[in-house]
Order: sequence, then structure tokens, then C-alpha cells
Amino acid sequence: VRALLVNVGHGQEPADPHPRHHVAPMDLAQCAAILEADGWRVELWDTVLTPSASSAEIEARVRHKAPDLLIVRPLHASLHVAEQLLRSQAGTTALRLAMGPLVPHIANDLLADGELGRAADGAIVGEPEPTLIDLLPHLREGRLPASLAGLRTRAGEREKPRAFLKDLDSLPIPAQHLLVGRGYRFRYPLDVDGPLHIGYVLTSRGCALGCIFCAPVERETFGTKYRFRSADHVVDELLRLRELGANAVYFIDDFFGFSPRRIRDLCEAMIARDAVMPWCAQIRAQGISLDLLRLMRRAGCSTLCFGAESGSDRVLGLLRKGVTVAEVREQAARIRHAGIQLVGYFIVGVPGETDAERQTTYDFIEEIAPDLVQLHIFNVFPGAPAMDMFPERYVEEGTKFTGPRGLDQRMIDLDRERRSFYRRYYLSPRYLGRALRRRWRPLLHNFGEEAEFVVRTTRFFLERP
Ligand code: SF4
Repeated sequence: VRALLVNVGHGQEPADPHPRHHVAPMDLAQCAAILEADGWRVELWDTVLTPSASSAEIEARVRHKAPDLLIVRPLHASLHVAEQLLRSQAGTTALRLAMGPLVPHIANDLLADGELGRAADGAIVGEPEPTLIDLLPHLREGRLPASLAGLRTRAGEREKPRAFLKDLDSLPIPAQHLLVGRGYRFRYPLDVDGPLHIGYVLTSRGCALGCIFCAPVERETFGTKYRFRSADHVVDELLRLRELGANAVYFIDDFFGFSPRRIRDLCEAMIARDAVMPWCAQIRAQGISLDLLRLMRRAGCSTLCFGAESGSDRVLGLLRKGVTVAEVREQAARIRHAGIQLVGYFIVGVPGETDAERQTTYDFIEEIAPDLVQLHIFNVFPGAPAMDMFPERYVEEGTKFTGPRGLDQRMIDLDRERRSFYRRYYLSPRYLGRALRRRWRPLLHNFGEEAEFVVRTTRFFLERP
């Protein structure tokens, strides 16, 4: 029995040249591991890695494979491509399933019996792995059960909800051999002496925080209760990654820094089991001691990212960030002191923010001087708490990178201002000197990718909004 899992990132690259990562679809890789353990021959395709392939070519390739099971994972910008891909495989694939964070919102469309027939036979809603495990005996028979928690098979009918997994260690390690070395791109600075072979690892699930700009669709799959894997389970995966040739890791958790105790256990296990390699993770902009940061550094931590958002306490309050500017400043200083690089996320254009407060944010960025700055324009995404607060700011188009361009003059002005800040910041002798001092080895050894990054970034700075 053969399964083909497709991450449909195709169509995701917008026209603007803003550089971005290619984040590996860890949920698909986890499902691949479950299928492989059940004896399936599994292939995992990610269309984001082949951006020049047209939708028709991808459909033809899948048709040629004629798998017994096709699982498609749509992304926001590729919904129609994913739906069409599923639809185009009717008759050549025994079973067509959709899964991923967006599926609860499009399941009814995929399952509707329209003129063209249904696009999918079933939609996995919520955390996919337990549902897939229960589905295994049915999949081998090429059919879906009429009723199974977490699986929707008819448009308009809600599936029985499935409880979130309590023990993440009960899952097999994701099928990293289907991801490593496939060309996934990672853009943050990492201390890697040689060509970068990035591995992605998810160590925890769920986030209970209430940032008003956070799109719930990104959190629905894993819920709001924080769960995490044991240190040894994660280290097993790191060792596997190294076997496969990865030389750096991005922990893609929404909330890696939830518990200092957990980070300490993980770092100690990495050191004890010789799984030290450069890694990057996202933490809160406060609450990690210098002592712990030094341990993280010894365990290979190369880069930490946090959402500092604003240089104004009043705006941080509007965003319900639960941190103060002073705390962010101290956390940034500790990170630098520990010899770790910093990626800072900031937001401008928050409703109610004054010009002076926005200027404070630019000044604050200069002050804490992150090694990489991402400056976002405030957007309201569907379902985010901000949608109730500022419905007039809701836009369907636009991303957190581009902002809702072209909608109103204020947004266009903000975008111009942002690019001008980027130019000032990144092209300053201070920044260039520090970047070269810290990153000359990676630049030398990973020249092709770094050069492409610089070209893209420069184009983005210079492009007229
Ligand atoms: S933005 Fe991140 S930290 Fe904030 S609620 Fe969303 S997932 Fe949690």
C-alpha cells in the first residue's frame, strides 16, 4: 500500500520579494511515521520546494503515482490549488483525505457533492495523529468508517470531537528522512560553519496566551493547553536528524519558552547525550535567566527569537502582551550577554498608536539592536481577538509580512516608513560590522543561499509599496 502526502504550499510565494523560511510540515511528517510503522510505503511532497511546477504538473504527477492514499495539506494561500488537486485525483486514488490547520474551515466545501463531485473523501479535523491511528485498519481496506472522532466525511455534519493527546511521547518520531536535505530554507542567522542543512523539530503543542493579533486558526489544531515531549524523546529526534545530515535545528514550537524547567531538562539531555548542534527557538520576551541562557548556549543555542512588538508600554498593553519594555530590554541584554543572537519581532500601526509611540518603537529597536528585525504592520486576521476590537481593520488580503497593501493611504505610508527603517537599520555601518564579525563563516560557507537572501532583502527594501 502506498501513501502520498502533499503539502500544498504552491501559490504561497506572493509577488513581493520578502525573504521567508520554508517551514517543513511536521504534522505530515508525523503522520508519515505512523503510516510507515503500519507498513505503508510513504512519499511526502512539498510543493513549496518546487515553486516553478504548475498546478497542472503537480496534478499530473500525483495522477501518475496513483497512490492508495492521498493526504493533502492546504495552506492559506493555496486553498484553491489544494482543492483542485484533490478533485483532480478522483478515480485514480483510492482515498483522498485533507488535513492541516485550515481544514476545519474548508471541510464542508471539500466534502460537498457538487456538480464536479466531492473533492475529498474525508477531512481530518484537529490533532491528526490519533485519528490517523484509528483509521489505519480502514485505510488498508480502502474505505472510511461512517463515524470516527476527528474525521468528517459529509458536508455539514460535524465530526465527534477528539480529545487532545495527553502524552506526546506516545507518537513516533516524525519521518525526518522525508524532510532533511530536501531544500527547506531557513532565514534566521545561525552559527553554522558550512552549508546549512536545517532540521525542523516540534517539541511542544498548545499556547494559552492571548495576544490579540494571534490568528486562532493557527492554534486550533493543538489547542490552548500546553503539552510537551520529554527531553529524551526530543533528543532521540535530534540524534536522528544528525544521522540524516542536518547540522542545525529550528524548534518550531509556538511557545518553546513556556517553562524554564523544561528548557533546562532539554539542554542538559542534549549535552549529556552529545546532541549539541546550533539551534534556534522562539521564547517570551522575559523570564529566562542568564544562568539558563548560558546553559542553552552550551547546548548549542545559536539564536533566540521573541516578540518585543513595541517600544511603548501603552501599546504593549493594547496588544495584551503581558510584558513591559523594561523586561524586554533586560531579556535582550541577557541573551546578548550569553553570546546568543537575537531575532526581534515588532509591530507598527497598532490601532490607537501615536506617531510618537511608533517612533519609540524604532528607537527601541536601535537600542536593543537585534541581529535580525522583523517589522510587521498590524493586521487583523480572521477570528483573532483583534477582529472584535477593530473590525474596520480586518482585511482578507495581505500577510503579516506585507501588511494589507493598497487598502488605504495610511497602510501604504506605514509600509514605506517600514522599508525606510529597514534600510537605515540594516545598512548602517554598526549593523554591517557586527553581522560580518559574527557571521563571516556562515556567509563564506553558505554563500549561495546567503547571497540570494541579501538580493531578496535588498529588493524588498527598495521596492515601492
Ligand atoms: S502569538 Fe504566539 S504566544 Fe501569542 S497567543 Fe499566538 S501562539 Fe501564543
